[in-house]
Amino acid sequence: TLILGLESSCDETAAALVDGNRCILAQHIASQEAEHAPYGGVVPEIAARAHAERLAPLIEATLSDANVTLDQVDAIAATAGPGLIGGVMVGLVTGKALAMASGKPLIAVNHLEGHALSPRLADASLEFPYALLLVSGGHCQILRVEGVGRYQRLATTIDDALGEAFDKSAKILGLGYPGGPAMERLAREGDPKAVPLPRPLVGSGEVHFSFAGLKSAVLRAHESGKYTPADIAASFQQAAVDCITDRLRIALDAMGPITALVVAGGVAANTSIRQALETIAENRSVSFVAPPIALCTDNAAMIAWAGVEHFTLGHSDPLDIAARPRWPLDPDAEPVRGAGV
Ligand code: ATP
Ligand code: MG
Ligand code: FE
Repeated sequence: TLILGLESSCDETAAALVDGNRCILAQHIASQEAEHAPYGGVVPEIAARAHAERLAPLIEATLSDANVTLDQVDAIAATAGPGLIGGVMVGLVTGKALAMASGKPLIAVNHLEGHALSPRLADASLEFPYALLLVSGGHCQILRVEGVGRYQRLATTIDDALGEAFDKSAKILGLGYPGGPAMERLAREGDPKAVPLPRPLVGSGEVHFSFAGLKSAVLRAHESGKYTPADIAASFQQAAVDCITDRLRIALDAMGPITALVVAGGVAANTSIRQALETIAENRSVSFVAPPIALCTDNAAMIAWAGVEHFTLGHSDPLDIAARPRWPLDPDAEPVRGAGV
């Protein structure tokens, strides 16, 4: 099996070739960080235009690196949502055009499913069902991954996603965009106990996340002039870890048997969060799986891999399938006030 994957849902334009043996034959990724940095966040119109300019050359480079032609590919997998609709449309329409020209099937991939299955690309021994903490720029969810296309969502955020909280807090501290990696770096120089920040909903028995209050507390702490940015960053990161630990305890108790605790999404790059999850997994005697950082942040290898999983099951999608700005992994989960999906 050989799948070409395309990703364009946010601010990374990417193409990758992945085979059924979990080999990433080639991949190219172009980040738009520099274009969006002056605005402190992703500007949808700029993102869509940049995807439109870059995607085709990245696909050409990916095919030529692997010395592969479209005839040798089994299917084209493209992100079809959720995400910024202009960007999603660029990738999906490109995928449709390639599928039409080559006569190969199209697989319309849910970007969140790409994140959710990425640990199986990294680790061949990871079996369903597993517990997944999906923490990214737009999402913060705890899911039971029961199989390809089968997700039970136990928790989501009632306001901000965790990556969003990292980014907004970084902006308050003047660290620039994207904020997550900068916050983590600065936190290493600070004292995680220095600033008394809230742990929203901890101890309430609530399974969902909330990070808006934490971000506001970061703003107040910064404006008070009493704390260094490093101490605020370290205290913020500790508060985030405490919230995740508490919510996971409740969700895992309610979840039923699992093979592993797995983390995915851009925030999974964070070392403190990984360490906390490793401890939780140890205490529950399940294995802990975290994909390498390059597979955690947005990339096309995870989209190609989701394509491999679907292709193996005989799935494909019609060429009139629509791009979707919102696309929950678990459509049965009760929508929560203000939640990401
Ligand atoms: P979604 O997948 O929900 O549509 P997205 O694609 O923008 O959102 P990802 O690329 O998966 O999100 O993740 C980006 C987020 O990860 C950003 O919010 C970024 O700040 C955060 N992030 C990246 N590295 C780190 C880190 N080391 N610590 C904390 N957060 C991080
Ligand atoms: Mg990004
Ligand atoms: Fe993402």
